[in-house]
Amino acid sequence: MEKQDHFANTTATAANGSESTDFIRTRILADNASGRFQGQVHTRFPPEPNGYLHLGHAKSICLNFGVAREFGGKCNLRFDDTNPVKEDMEYVNAIREDVRWLGGDWDDREFYASNYFEALYTYAEALIEKGAAYVDDLSADEIRAMRGTLTEPGQESPYRNRSVEENLDLFRRMRKGEFPDGARVLRAKIDMASPNIVMRDPTLYRIRHTSHQRTGDTWCIYPLYDFAHCLSDSLEGITHSLCTLEFVNNRELYDWVLDTLGVYHPQQIEFARLNLTYTVLSKRKLITLVKEGYVRGWDDPRLPTLQGLRRRGVPPEALRDFCRRIGMARADSTVEYALLEFCIREYLNAHAPRLMAVLDPIHVVIENYPEDQTEYFDLPLYPEDDSFGTRKVPFCRDLWIERDDFRAEPPKKFHRLYPGNEVRLRYAYLLTCREAVYGESGELLELRCTIDPQSRGGQSPDGRKVKGTIHWVSMRHAKACEVRLYDQLFAVPDPENVPEGKTFLDNIAPSSMTCVSAMLEPALAERPTGECVQFERVGYFCKDKDSTPDHPVFNRTATLRDSWAKMEKKS
Ligand code: ATP
Ligand code: MG
Repeated sequence: MEKQDHFANTTATAANGSESTDFIRTRILADNASGRFQGQVHTRFPPEPNGYLHLGHAKSICLNFGVAREFGGKCNLRFDDTNPVKEDMEYVNAIREDVRWLGGDWDDREFYASNYFEALYTYAEALIEKGAAYVDDLSADEIRAMRGTLTEPGQESPYRNRSVEENLDLFRRMRKGEFPDGARVLRAKIDMASPNIVMRDPTLYRIRHTSHQRTGDTWCIYPLYDFAHCLSDSLEGITHSLCTLEFVNNRELYDWVLDTLGVYHPQQIEFARLNLTYTVLSKRKLITLVKEGYVRGWDDPRLPTLQGLRRRGVPPEALRDFCRRIGMARADSTVEYALLEFCIREYLNAHAPRLMAVLDPIHVVIENYPEDQTEYFDLPLYPEDDSFGTRKVPFCRDLWIERDDFRAEPPKKFHRLYPGNEVRLRYAYLLTCREAVYGESGELLELRCTIDPQSRGGQSPDGRKVKGTIHWVSMRHAKACEVRLYDQLFAVPDPENVPEGKTFLDNIAPSSMTCVSAMLEPALAERPTGECVQFERVGYFCKDKDSTPDHPVFNRTATLRDSWAKMEKKS
């Protein structure tokens, strides 16, 4: 099977060197031009398996796999599993699934930082031998207290000038498990007066008597990110190590470790994290929402996790388009959630089959249609594209229509149903409302209507104008279904911006999910789980995994209303 070029149109011209679209691609082009990495491009996506991937990671996945694809290079999937305490195989499996879903292809290059523990240990000894690392007996608190501030230099540890022999001996005994957690650390010996605090003798290894999900009890010392990451990049032959802006100050350390050891040296380049309105993009905060029961699980369709978005019905193409549109910047900014919805609608508008469902049903009785008759219409699944095929839609005397499509007293410009008015039942007949029937307490019970038998297919037989078109479902054939309507989980655009004493949890909207009982045309109940369809005139919906044959459940993926286009127009 030919590989699909998922990330192709990020910048179609980058590979042949004629144009680039952002500062990262510009730098790669420059490196290729100067022959810096022999024209190779090799990136990696390095998640820490301590949570589920979210939209922020989607940006990084699209960037890393996209750049590799465009320049004819490779992208590795690397699990940055150096912290045994917070990591879990459950996350590893979910991450793999999510990256693949989004179109990332790492062939057989699935790596784990933990695979390099032995190599990293050897590098650590090499640093000690060069006099560039030492074992420190200070506690983590003491080290922090002596680190200094932005305006004051730090203080050197009393253990800083141990001999190479003593350091080697202590480090080996750390590895053997002779010391308890926290008793000693290995630190780089750089400069306690460096203006860059990261460079003030950063900790490289700490003691943790904890089993690791991959290496078991082999190790009781674990490397820290700043030591493990650059060397993992180096060992894998990464050319461009793309990371988020908060690592800007760590780049100096990244370079120092590799230069001091004299090993192959990738280029770290930082880009801005994705921030999105009305949501939080931090694994820690997402874990809180899940563990504390604010949502129904990691794949709750209200979450910005890739699992949640997928369950909601968001296609990967829409996310890739979103990542393309937000672009790459060097300064942090916040993207409007409405842009994501715009991308979802754009894609679905061109790709989602259209069927009929009534979310808030009211009964229509067609007085001039035989009670026991059923006729079937062969209706296109997508009006402008025959390749979608057709489905059979039953029609009979009793129908469901949308309650909101009827008004006893129509406002101006209301072209749908009201007593005496004629509308088109989509694809079926022209229908005139004769009478609205009310119950004892004034509630609307049903609408008595007639059709024009000459208007089969919904055509006007004599050219008379019928302005409104409404959708419908045959009552006798309808499938009852639960529909879950979602709103933003947070009530404010910037949920993390809270006054003292409050947390982002205080910004959770009082209600972000409404369940309604809807009526589906029969073919809708048969659509596969996970496929997004348009309920005509209503919105985009996706059958949920909670569905059973007797009880279909649909999630609303997106409404039809396009708030992004409106916002664009205003600005
Ligand atoms: P979080 O803050 O949610 O815990 P993280 O950065 O710790 O995220 P990692 O698993 O370490 O999560 O991230 C893997 C990759 O994804 C990293 O290269 C990281 O920079 C990138 N990434 C994470 N969040 C974002 C974001 N919001 N925007 C862009 N890239 C991101
Ligand atoms: Mg991280």
